[in-house]
Amino acid sequence: MKLSLIGHNHKYQIESLIKIFFPTVRFSDHDQSGTEKDWVITRKKQGKHHIYLLAIACLNGKKQAAHFVMAQDVSEQEARLQLCAALYLALSRLLNRQLPWGMMTGIRPVKTVHQLMEQGNSPEQVRKILKTKYFVSDEKIDLCLKTFSVQQRCFVMECQPKVFSLYISIPFCPTRCSYCSFVSQAIATKASIELMREYVKNLIAELAVTGEIVKNLGLKLESVYFGGGTPTALSAELLEELFVCIQKHFDLSQLSEYTVEAGRPDTITLEKLQVLKKYRVSRISINPQSFNDEVLRNVGRKHTAQDVIDCYQMARKLGISCINMDLIAGLPLESLESFQHSIDQAIALQPENITVHTLTIKRSSDFYAAGEKPNRNSLVAEMVSYAGNHLRQAGYMPYYLYRQKNMIDNLENVGYSKPGFESPYNVYIMEENQTILAVGAGAVTKLVDETGISRIFNYKYPYEYNNGFSEMIRRKQQVVNFYEK
Ligand code: SF4
Repeated sequence: MKLSLIGHNHKYQIESLIKIFFPTVRFSDHDQSGTEKDWVITRKKQGKHHIYLLAIACLNGKKQAAHFVMAQDVSEQEARLQLCAALYLALSRLLNRQLPWGMMTGIRPVKTVHQLMEQGNSPEQVRKILKTKYFVSDEKIDLCLKTFSVQQRCFVMECQPKVFSLYISIPFCPTRCSYCSFVSQAIATKASIELMREYVKNLIAELAVTGEIVKNLGLKLESVYFGGGTPTALSAELLEELFVCIQKHFDLSQLSEYTVEAGRPDTITLEKLQVLKKYRVSRISINPQSFNDEVLRNVGRKHTAQDVIDCYQMARKLGISCINMDLIAGLPLESLESFQHSIDQAIALQPENITVHTLTIKRSSDFYAAGEKPNRNSLVAEMVSYAGNHLRQAGYMPYYLYRQKNMIDNLENVGYSKPGFESPYNVYIMEENQTILAVGAGAVTKLVDETGISRIFNYKYPYEYNNGFSEMIRRKQQVVNFYEK
């Protein structure tokens, strides 16, 4: 698509907006003499008393335009927003299509609600802003406002600089799912088992150094979260070594959450669950993704729907107090009826948390490379609506949500919870209002205070992490510098 920007430099925002309509589009500069049928022109013109903002879009020879006139003294940010609005209107008229999230491209819509409320707006004013400025649908505004009110009720949303969560990255999985875009290593070979042992040894050292820093700075640990990957891809012995290390180096007395994403049922054994229980893990994930075996096979998951149910019942018998189940809307071969069955089945099991994801097609997934076709858009929107309605009827409320690039139909991921079982970590990581100290490959520490966020990046891949381990330890010093500045 040919793209022309005149009188402004909002290339990133204009391109991001076009991508919500055309996720795989590629851009080139506009050439008036070219024969390209698809093009967009956006223009900001400074007049004597006003600013003129114009967008024209042309697809297959058909054109639509929209424009706004604003006062001279509006901020650059407001002018940019209005230019994007003109483009959104031109594109949606041309395609005869309204998007559920309108022109919102950010991944944290509830954070926008927080900011608008902090500026003194009432919920009704926020509703009006989201509807008229961003063109968000009533359904998604309701979702945002409900999520916001659950967060207000359940969590301290103001930044508390001395309170933190600990994230431990376990980037290993038994096999790789075809839609996966995470840095996660399949562990089928002997070499990868060796890599994993070495990795845990280094992780223990990084945890010890982090624990020492935390102690010296007098920080208070609120939640521990093992993510990945699939943490239960580790053996029971390696898991126990990590739990012992955490117990030794951190004060767990004020913990409100201890989560291990068990995730794949093909990694869960009674022995591992017993270890989790012994070290007081309070929340685990057992993720069906779908309760349709054909869908699971097709995406490379080596377990059945019945395996999920068996693991769930095993964890329940052991008394794990909070269980989350992830489902994905839009997987190939999933019909509306089979997705509805998955939601109904999850509700029937009564886990405390159910998280509904929308399939995202990332370039780093096998799925993208194989040119797999996801479900058609409107069907996925119907799946997501069904999930929201039925979960709410069953007593689950949305408590965090986020969006990613390349989600089908520009939809969202939503964490639902029975009252009183909301995961603090999921809220803090999304709303970015608490420090997260992160260890392991691919982990990103986020240091949060009133002035903003500083990040420390660990090496991405397990072999890089093992090889560059001393550098990882050196970077931890930045935590001390942050608190002592
Ligand atoms: S279980 Fe999760 S992290 Fe592992 S391969 Fe599948 S999608 Fe990726």
